[in-house]
Amino acid sequence: MQRRDSRLIVICGAGILGLSVARELLKRGTDNIILLEKESKLGCHASGRNSGVLHAGIYYTPDSLKAKLCLKGNLMMREYCREKGIPILETGKVIVTKSEKEIPVLEELHKRAKKNGAEVNLINDKELKDIEPYAMTVERALYSPLTAVVDSKRVLAQLERDLVSSGSVKILKGVKFEGVKRNSEILTSKGAFRFELFINTAGAYADSVAHAFGVGKKYKILPFKGTYKKLRKDRSYLVKGNIYPVPDIRNPFLGVHFTRSIDGTVYIGPTAIPAFGRENYGFVEGVDGEALGILWRDAVLFFKNDKFRTVALTEPRKYINSLFFKDISKMVEGIRMEDIEPSEKVGIRPQLVDWEKKELVMDFLVLKDSDTVHILNAISPAFTSSFAFAEYVVDRFIFNREEVKGAL
Ligand SMILES: Cc1cc2nc3c(=O)[nH]c(=O)nc-3n(C[C@H](O)[C@H](O)[C@H](O)COP(=O)(O)OP(=O)(O)OC[C@H]3O[C@@H](n4cnc5c(N)ncnc54)[C@H](O)[C@@H]3O)c2cc1C
Repeated sequence: MQRRDSRLIVICGAGILGLSVARELLKRGTDNIILLEKESKLGCHASGRNSGVLHAGIYYTPDSLKAKLCLKGNLMMREYCREKGIPILETGKVIVTKSEKEIPVLEELHKRAKKNGAEVNLINDKELKDIEPYAMTVERALYSPLTAVVDSKRVLAQLERDLVSSGSVKILKGVKFEGVKRNSEILTSKGAFRFELFINTAGAYADSVAHAFGVGKKYKILPFKGTYKKLRKDRSYLVKGNIYPVPDIRNPFLGVHFTRSIDGTVYIGPTAIPAFGRENYGFVEGVDGEALGILWRDAVLFFKNDKFRTVALTEPRKYINSLFFKDISKMVEGIRMEDIEPSEKVGIRPQLVDWEKKELVMDFLVLKDSDTVHILNAISPAFTSSFAFAEYVVDRFIFNREEVKGAL
């Protein structure tokens, strides 16, 4: 029989990670969980604004958490969607090259994918055309049959229903974590809350929530804006599933790609343009008192880190339609500038930076200190990985109470 765990667990942030951790805790018999969410509804940030792609473990260096959790998470999320009747587009994905120079990177991705246990095939141009008739590549491409697409907001809504109906989880919306009052007590916009265990899944604010507990002080989040465009409806036949470029594997971003979403819209994006705020979705929307600090961090990294400099110099060009088009036109045959329409879809990728090393952190990161656990750098593919990630966090940091030395 499963042991009951009646500790009062407070989770800060009801994105896919907060919800998945709550779900995992429920499965282990925890029955006193409070999820705090500062917004009045779920899905306002990364978990409701992403591409909805269930990645299949291709890009990540073996031994990384991303490699361990992505494919497993993909399979778990598929099973959940099937069980709950949530539609999945099982269209697979191709990664295409734009020049001969990219072939060695494609081969490296193939090797990584194999090491990660992912199912991928190196295919030739003819095989590519059978899968994506309009995709173009130079000599070879990679095919990942297990890549799929879901409607991430539907997944969030289903999880919310499951958790609330269990009777063991309360989701308190419009309640913002504001600081630590004293040991085992936090301050929020709706008063103080006591906890026996606190789990930080605050996404773009995960660093500042951790800092309030004195944890992870050397890490800071830098926001990157991911904008999308879309294919005109009558030209959406050009893309059947997912067409991705070969990325710069020194950076955590996968490059602007084509994704057919559940409702049939083909999105092209996201970019990774340095943003002025953690929720800077519009031009000035979400720009607050932190903007100058963010600009300063961008400037420091620009001079100290050549990988960041490359992103900062190349990505903003994608605001210019002709340069955006130039970037994607080598991936799809016959695509024309007039086939591309603006889209309101936009998200922010909160990228963690190790400020001592002035390096972008490539992997997921979990820090623990006595009765608090902090999930940092939940960047892509954290949506895909979420169920496996939650299982890992609960196993390792909550039930085994493992301390992460040197993390503070
Ligand atoms: C443009 C874009 C495309 C992406 N595409 C994919 C993809 O195709 N596949 C994939 O696997 N991943 C993708 N990702 C990544 C994925 O969306 C994220 O990794 C994942 O959603 C992170 O989940 P989260 O729960 O950590 O963060 P969030 O969804 O941001 O949730 C954090 C929550 O915490 C709340 N919060 C913050 N501060 C406080 C506070 N002080 N008090 C209370 N609540 C607080 C926020 O309101 C928010 O609801 C993409 C991301 C972006 C931005």
